[in-house]
Amino acid sequence: MVEYDDKQPGTPPGLTRPPRRGTRRERRTRFCSATRKIMKPIIGDHYQTQGYGRTEFARSALGLRLYRAFGGVHPGVDFGTRGVNLEIVATCDGTVVRAGIDGGWGNHVELKGADGWNRQYAHLSAVSVKLGAKVVAGTVLGRVGNTGSSTATHLHYGHRRRKLTGGWEYRDPSVDLAEVPVPVAPPTARVIKGSKSPDIYVWTGRMRHRVPDWETYAFLFRGESFEEVDDGVISKLPEGPPMVSLR
Ligand SMILES: [Zn+2]
Repeated sequence: MVEYDDKQPGTPPGLTRPPRRGTRRERRTRFCSATRKIMKPIIGDHYQTQGYGRTEFARSALGLRLYRAFGGVHPGVDFGTRGVNLEIVATCDGTVVRAGIDGGWGNHVELKGADGWNRQYAHLSAVSVKLGAKVVAGTVLGRVGNTGSSTATHLHYGHRRRKLTGGWEYRDPSVDLAEVPVPVAPPTARVIKGSKSPDIYVWTGRMRHRVPDWETYAFLFRGESFEEVDDGVISKLPEGPPMVSLR
C-alpha cells in the first residue's frame, strides 16, 4: 500500500490518504515499536539505583546542583552495573537522533520511537550507532560508562519529547520497563582512606566532590555504617564485585 505523508508536497491530488487508525489520543500513546518487543537496556547484571522524580538523591545538595536544569527532578531512571563496559541495547525500535558527546549527558544515544517519545541512553563509554540509523529493540547502541556529569559508572535511561513551546517534556521511563523489571539496589560511593573519619567522595566525570551533606550521606548509606569492599569502593552490598552508581 502506498503511504502518503501529510507534509509531503508531492502527494497526487484526487487520491485519498489511507484512514488513520485509532483516535488522536490512541495514536499518541501507541507503543514505542511496531513489534511491541521490549528489552532491558543493559546486557548483563544491573540494578536500578535511582528512580524518576524527586528522589532522595535529587533532593540532596549535590542532587539539586546536578538537576538544577530539570527543576530538581531526576529526569530518568539510573541503572548501576556489576561490570564495566557492558553493552547497552535499544529497549524499543527507533531512529537515532543523537549519537556522541552531548554536554552533561556525556556520550549520548537518543532514539525517536513510534510513539513520539525519544529514549535517552546517557553517560556511555562508547557509542556504536550512527546518526539517522534505524534500529530495532536489542540493537547494541554502545557501552555503559561514566561520561558527562555522571558521578559513577551507570546508564541513565530517559524519555523525552519536544514541547511545542520549546524545550523538553520528560516522563517516567518505567512505562517501557513494566514487562522487564530491573531489581532495585542501594548505591555505592568511593571512600578516601587516611583520616580517622574518612571523607567520602563522589565523582562527576573527572571532578571529585566531597559528599556535601547528611541527606546525600543518608541516600548513599541510609544512615547506616558502611563497609569497604574493594579498591576504595564502599558498599552495603554483602557479596560480589562492587556495583558502581550514584545517579
Ligand atoms: Zn540519571
